[in-house]
This record gives sequence, C-alpha cells and structure tokens, in this order.
Amino acid sequence: MKGEPRRTCLGCRRARPKQTLVRLVRGRDGVVVTDSRGVVGGRGAWVCPDDPCLARALSRARLTHAFRRPCEASAELAVVVRAVARRGVGAPPCEVSL
Ligand SMILES: [Zn+2]
Repeated sequence: MKGEPRRTCLGCRRARPKQTLVRLVRGRDGVVVTDSRGVVGGRGAWVCPDDPCLARALSRARLTHAFRRPCEASAELAVVVRAVARRGVGAPPCEVSL
C-alpha cells in the first residue's frame, strides 16, 4: 500500500514496514530500552526481531552512532525485543494468553 510507514533496521539497514520492527529509545542514563507502544518522544532507532539483526544492532558502537550519544544496551534487551515482537508491537501490555 502506498504511503505505508517504513523505518530502517539498525542491524540490516533495510527499510521495512514499521509494524514489523521494534522501536528502541535511549533513557536518560544512556541505557537503551524498547518502546513497544511507540509513545516515547525523542530520537528512536528500529530493529528487526531477528537474531542476526539484534546481534549487530545492539552493539554499543551501533547504538551510540544511532543515538549520537554514548549508549549501552541492557543485558536483556535482545530478549525483550523478541518478547515485544511476539506479543505484537502496540498490543496492550496486559494481554496474556494462558
Ligand atoms: Zn534487520
């Protein structure tokens, strides 16, 4: 569909539909976290929830370049990105299937 929002993945550098990517934001302390609902303001970075992309995208050098400030990925960030992607970006956080 024309005009579909696209974002470039920090890992593979391909432009992909926004809803297939997970948004990352940098906290005040320099630690990068997910913004699963897309509501945090400021500069964001996007990544595919795939292992090769996460491995590349979540390196300190790549994040620091993306945010133009010193950054660190928290140890669980790759796990959180995958969890967010499984749940569906923008889905209500209280939605749990047992
Ligand atoms: Zn990618």
